Amino acid sequence: ESPVCAPLPVLGRDVRVPLVTGEEVVYAALDYAASAPALQRVWDEVAAYAPYYGSVHRGAGYLSQLSTDLFEASRREVADFLGCRADDQVVFTRSTTDSLNLLAAALPVGTRAFVFETEHHAALLPWGRRADLAVTCLPAPRSHREAVETLERALAAREPHGPALVCVTGASNVTGELWPVRELAAAAHAHGARIVLDAAQLAPHHPVDTAGWDVDWVAFSGHKLYAPFGAGVLAGRADWLRDAEPYLAGGGASRSVTRRADGGVDVEWHTGAARHEAGSPNVIGAYAIAAACRALTEAGFRNLVAHEQDLIDRVRKGLAEVPGVRVLSLFDEEPGSATPSRVGVISFVVEGWNSSHFAAALSAEYGIGVRDGLFCAHPLVRTLLGADPGEPGECGAPDAPAGGRRLDAIRVSFGAGTPREHVERFTAAVR
Ligand code: PMP
Repeated sequence: ESPVCAPLPVLGRDVRVPLVTGEEVVYAALDYAASAPALQRVWDEVAAYAPYYGSVHRGAGYLSQLSTDLFEASRREVADFLGCRADDQVVFTRSTTDSLNLLAAALPVGTRAFVFETEHHAALLPWGRRADLAVTCLPAPRSHREAVETLERALAAREPHGPALVCVTGASNVTGELWPVRELAAAAHAHGARIVLDAAQLAPHHPVDTAGWDVDWVAFSGHKLYAPFGAGVLAGRADWLRDAEPYLAGGGASRSVTRRADGGVDVEWHTGAARHEAGSPNVIGAYAIAAACRALTEAGFRNLVAHEQDLIDRVRKGLAEVPGVRVLSLFDEEPGSATPSRVGVISFVVEGWNSSHFAAALSAEYGIGVRDGLFCAHPLVRTLLGADPGEPGECGAPDAPAGGRRLDAIRVSFGAGTPREHVERFTAAVR
């Protein structure tokens, strides 16, 4: 393999799995979009730190101080990785889902959220849970330009013209297609709205430039960014987070708690990131994310993108050669575009095949792990399959709903740790 195509070492490279034939093969993990394997380097750095582990913000001992310093340093490294503004705040959460729910809980009263129906459910659903928030769900656009124009029209027409939040993905977890984040941010701000970027699928594959793109918040998950351990990030503007009630009530979020004479309890909450981090923080998770940010930055996104583009080209070419395979794309191809337009996430259907049987066969006969279903993006998959977004079809349902047709697809996804051999084995297996 050429130097640019050298995969980064990840855990699980040597894991062997049994096939139905009784043979064993090295497992080909091609489901990075669900959870990516941890980088070996992240694992090593966490192991080196583990003996020094202590409570964060809660101990006078040396190891507690060390852990507190590492936790806070991890925050700064994440801010750098995301290209944040100097006064942005980095809150450690459990995941992207948690980050977006936190932001939903922190929105000013009466905010209207604008989302495209194409979003992952983690980005589609949190805004509808507070009675005082309103949600406008926009139809799937077929080009970047249509996305921006649709959003502009909807924002301009909102009644009343109160606080608004746009939530948009950086890269789709179904098609892998990139979205025009900078243009959508400009449209949001031109209409007095704020914007949060769901970078769950973008951050592992591309540099994120929060300040340069002028997005107000960014959310991502450690387990998709080659760092395991149940941690995620919400980074961005401090003001709405500072003015909101704490996401969780408890120790760490409270600066001062007193019992009132009438038997009640008074609380003064912290104003910084700690306000939304009640409970003992996940220091290992935060440290692992920071280690992953360092590793990706040092590997260089130029190299990572080149490596991944080589794999994308091979998979797309391989799939295009198989009769009956249809790759799912939302946007019309933009001819002559020099910049990569997608990350290593590709979904497809195979004529005459049940997607879950197909995915099961890839596992049982070839040792390849992919995903099938509707990928927690039901309206998008329905739209891509030419169905009405309201047509029934269950996530992961093995059989078609009564009287209906199967609505699901197969997704192959990969990244910095994927060797060419895995995608070659995959395309050969599909063939
Ligand atoms: N957004 C996107 C685009 C995703 O792909 C995912 C995970 N599939 C999420 C949000 C949710 O991430 P998590 O499950 O880590 O909360």
